[in-house]
Amino acid sequence: MLTLTCLGGAGTVTGSKHLLTHGDTRILIDCGLFQGLKNLRELNWQRLVVAPDTIDAVVLTHAHLDHCGYLPRLVLDGFTGSIYATESTRDVAELILLDSAWLQEKDAEFANRKGFSKHKPALPLYRVVDAERTLKQFKRVPWHREVELPGGARLQMRRAGHILGAATVQIDIAGKRVVFSGDLGRYGDMVMFDPEPVAEADYIVIESTYGNRRHDKSDPLEALAQVIERTVQRGGTVVIPAFAVGRAQALIYDLWLLRQAGRLNNVPIYLDSPMATSATEMLCRHNADHRLTAEECAAACSAVNYIRDVEESKALSASRYPKVIISASGMATGGRVLHHIAAFAGDHRNTLLFSGFQAAGTRGRKLLEGAREVKIYGHWMPVNAEVTELPMLSAHADSDELIHWLSGFQRPPQHVFIVHGEPEASEALRERILRELGWEASVPLQNQEIHL
Ligand SMILES: [Zn+2]
Repeated sequence: MLTLTCLGGAGTVTGSKHLLTHGDTRILIDCGLFQGLKNLRELNWQRLVVAPDTIDAVVLTHAHLDHCGYLPRLVLDGFTGSIYATESTRDVAELILLDSAWLQEKDAEFANRKGFSKHKPALPLYRVVDAERTLKQFKRVPWHREVELPGGARLQMRRAGHILGAATVQIDIAGKRVVFSGDLGRYGDMVMFDPEPVAEADYIVIESTYGNRRHDKSDPLEALAQVIERTVQRGGTVVIPAFAVGRAQALIYDLWLLRQAGRLNNVPIYLDSPMATSATEMLCRHNADHRLTAEECAAACSAVNYIRDVEESKALSASRYPKVIISASGMATGGRVLHHIAAFAGDHRNTLLFSGFQAAGTRGRKLLEGAREVKIYGHWMPVNAEVTELPMLSAHADSDELIHWLSGFQRPPQHVFIVHGEPEASEALRERILRELGWEASVPLQNQEIHL
């Protein structure tokens, strides 16, 4: 009997972990970290309903933290199998996992120093050594080629757009074909390729981040230029919290295009995130996995000032000269963007511009919902700056694009499972799938065992 169990990413956009079980064979698709609301983050500390040493393989759709960030803990808890991913995903995962492990260690150390943890001593979820061990378990999967998985299952990966290396995952197991969308990108994106269609599936597991939203159809470059120009006219600075991998690079490219068109010429642009800087170099290295030519990549990257060390970053926060600062993390949950928000949020001339999805419970979400105060490093700060978002700059498909991707299947699946969305978004997509495609769909609950 074949079963599907969502160990995360059910009813939430984080913690993606989907388990296929057939007899003794267990294959986990994605292994993400929970983020945002406290009760979600606490799930990272709960034992999985299956023992990690009984999982035969992990398949990664892409290397965002909410899809790969639990891997080192899985390894620490006994997982010894292979982790299947595209070559670019493996390289992005190296950046993300080492950074995450370093942050976990630093947070635990900080909690111990300040004595504010319930746990004595506070422990990191995993350490850098665990992340390094995890990276040794990766197996590179070529695009569009069938690869054998444990238990006789077969795997094929196609482009999902979204970020460097992102794939949709097709698994043939027990005579059934199950297709996982992972995170789907936009159609017509200037940097990433379109999500590729998949011809056939018995079951589809699809994300629903923007299942209840349509991105504004107006020109994203024009919208971006206008936000920056009106802020600069006020003498202000634009702070853009951006995901270090994916959005940061797309923004750099967008800003370069605007410069090419004669806009924003006197506005300095800073990328203040060591991880985003490394990811930008990586984008230029993995030339076959995106639309930019080597020349465009190099030119776009040279239009930006890179901030490496913390002292430079602090000096940037202190400078009142109008500018654009792109910094991580994308949901303002940590990283250097916090001290920029602390420095710039109080002044009405500045702008905080969000470009990606803001999960419930994150600072980014609270700011977008109109919070007039924000807590950073234990202090409440007033928010007087303009706070705005340009969701059309997001790396995620909107509801029309999710339906577009589903329309690529040449026959109806037996069932569609809707994951990776907040409840209203998943439910809205379920209704659309039923109404427009006539397909049966449902929203699984966390740890619910579903017989396929
Ligand atoms: Zn993602």
